[in-house]
Amino acid sequence: MQENTVLGAVTLTASIEHMKSAAIMTVAFLVMAVALFAVISILFLRRMLQPLVTTANEIETAVDSAIDGDFSHRIESRTNDEIGKIATQFNALSEGITNKLSLIRENVVQLVQSQPDSKGGNLLSETADTVSGLVRVSRFKQAIEEDETDGEVFLRISEVLEQEFNIHTFSIYEVDQNKKMIHPVMIDSVPEAPIHWCDAAIHDHCVGCRAVRTGHLIDGSENVQLCRSFSSDAAVADKRYICLPVIESGSVGSVVQLVFGSEDAHKVRNQRPLLEAYLREAAPVLQAKRLMASLRESSLKDAMTGLHNRRFLEEYAETLISQCKRRAVPMTLLMMDLDYFKPVNDTYGHDAGDQVLRELAVILQANVRESDLVIRYGGEEFLIVLLETNAEQALPVAEKIRTAVESHKFKVGGTSLSKTISAGLADFPNDAQAFWQVLKFADVSLYAAKEGGRNQVVRFHKALWSEDADY
Ligand code: GH3
Ligand code: MG
Ligand code: MG
Repeated sequence: MQENTVLGAVTLTASIEHMKSAAIMTVAFLVMAVALFAVISILFLRRMLQPLVTTANEIETAVDSAIDGDFSHRIESRTNDEIGKIATQFNALSEGITNKLSLIRENVVQLVQSQPDSKGGNLLSETADTVSGLVRVSRFKQAIEEDETDGEVFLRISEVLEQEFNIHTFSIYEVDQNKKMIHPVMIDSVPEAPIHWCDAAIHDHCVGCRAVRTGHLIDGSENVQLCRSFSSDAAVADKRYICLPVIESGSVGSVVQLVFGSEDAHKVRNQRPLLEAYLREAAPVLQAKRLMASLRESSLKDAMTGLHNRRFLEEYAETLISQCKRRAVPMTLLMMDLDYFKPVNDTYGHDAGDQVLRELAVILQANVRESDLVIRYGGEEFLIVLLETNAEQALPVAEKIRTAVESHKFKVGGTSLSKTISAGLADFPNDAQAFWQVLKFADVSLYAAKEGGRNQVVRFHKALWSEDADY
């Protein structure tokens, strides 16, 4: 048989239907298996991640509250893993901050001596604000302690009112409890201005001021009628007030009055605790300054006659001369001594002698201008500084004093007696240019008056002065 010859045909018929459905089934099964696996995986993951998501959400909420100063939120610790640990540590942190914050708050409340009005406010930022306020109070205290006078302290209080509290209408009063007077130290930043926000009658009647009378804070922010001495004009203009007494050793030493429109009442009331902290610091400093001033004044005064003493003269001598030089005006020194004073003591006793000296002091002051200085220079020696007066002009004044003394009846021990004085005078700049030299010349002239028979006035002239003389 020849190669490549067709011998017959065979027909093969095969059906793939069965295979097709089997394949579809397989694919469907696979798809379902994958889907089921995916769903199970998602469910598993969700279950795994749920605590993390919840915890993260809770932390977010708690942090938001903490930013607003509320540290009370706590995170639930759901698992024992890392997420649970985060929750526990976050809670410990919040707890720690809460404890420390309330400790700081307690201290701040003690320092300000007032509970803050923090309803719904941010406790953290309010505390921070109060603390920085207290730091400013402490700097203020340092500054006023180093100030020289109570006037400077009052000036600082008014600066605080304006710059820190933005209050521009106010009164600062100084109270003189002895004289029952009120002195306006500062009205709306103007020193020594007349009383403006109150009835001016309180000036000579300090108890007319309710804060002085009661020693309590007077809050007229709602009831403007609370103090009858508040200016009726201001009340009509819808002004309100808060008056804060500054207590020094149990009595009211000064009063700070805040004046504001009714719309600012809430703001001013909130500022009150911090302002009170300022005034609490100012009170002892003001008292110390005033005490120092009065001690100083009394150390320069003679207790028996109320006149200036020799120490005063020593302190002011140079100032007096430089004032005269600057203004190119003369000045006369009038030195006086009671004639035969010793016998008064010997006859009537020392108390009678004192009485004579007191009466003499009154006569001297009554016969000179208020601007002249009357000084008890020694026991029964008096010096008068006659300002803007030369020796010629001073002579009639000295003569007037001499006759006033001569004609006066001194009352001693139920009787009355007459006394005389001798006086010597010299001036600046004619007789001498140095204060103590002028004084020396006046003294030399007094000596001459004594020598000349007493009860007379001698004006200095060159013949009286010799460097070698024994005065
Ligand atoms: P003259 O000045 O005229 O020469 O005589 P005199 O008697 O005033 O003499 P002298 O100035 O020496 O005496 C002053 C007297 O003044 C002596 C002293 O006891 C008295 N004296 C001084 N200070 C006081 C005082 O504060 N009170 C009293 N009672 N006497 C005083
Ligand atoms: Mg004498
Ligand atoms: Mg004498």
